[in-house]
Amino acid sequence: MGLVLVSLLLLLGAAVYLFAYASDPQSFLFRNILMLLTGLFLLILFFFFIGLLAMTGTILGRRPFPGMDWLIDKTLLLLFPVVMSLGRLFHIAQDQIQRSFIEVNNQMVRARRHKVQARQCLILLPHCLQKDSCPHKITLSTDNCQKCGRCQVGEILDLAAEKGVEVEVVAGGTMARRALTQYGPQAVVAVACERDLSSGVLDSFPLPVLGVVNQRPQGPCLNTRIDMEALQKALSSQLEYLEQAKEAK
Ligand code: SF4
Repeated sequence: MGLVLVSLLLLLGAAVYLFAYASDPQSFLFRNILMLLTGLFLLILFFFFIGLLAMTGTILGRRPFPGMDWLIDKTLLLLFPVVMSLGRLFHIAQDQIQRSFIEVNNQMVRARRHKVQARQCLILLPHCLQKDSCPHKITLSTDNCQKCGRCQVGEILDLAAEKGVEVEVVAGGTMARRALTQYGPQAVVAVACERDLSSGVLDSFPLPVLGVVNQRPQGPCLNTRIDMEALQKALSSQLEYLEQAKEAK
């Protein structure tokens, strides 16, 4: 969020500079075109500031601002690449920025409290969660998992079955997009590394995706693990209303 604000302030500085430059009385045409462009730029920045304010208010108040969802989504979507570039400039680890982005996105999704039934929710898992020596093709079908306990896939499948939620194991963005087209979920809980999660969330906007960052005790893409409590929490959050309704019966 801090980097988003810094990006906006830098862009504002650029706009003010352009505005001052355009005030040069030497070139009438150039000045008018430049002033028009600068005016448009300032207007867009103004909307971004409003978007950032609404985002902060949504997170702090844990409730959505009526009618501001579109602006908030656009602010996040358009400013994220600027924030990433700024992070590179200041030598801030990309993982750290992506993790913050996922956290902000998760808080937005939670604050919006989408009402989803279990069959409208999908869990997306990365194939690196599977034990590397496992011969079963769980990317073809999760039914192929023998739930042998050598990795957490079986445990996650049991959890999903208990909640009535579909699970897909995907090997990359293309497979994830195909799964989204196939199931057409209204909400997603996705497990992946910071980079894949942030790009997946951006690709899927405005679909509410709760991201759970995986653990990589053996390095990237090999025998990764997941904090089961975090997964359960994310799932309960997406199915919150359904579970509340069940409890009320
Ligand atoms: S639980 Fe066992 S069978 Fe299932 S994916 Fe993991 S290693 Fe393979």
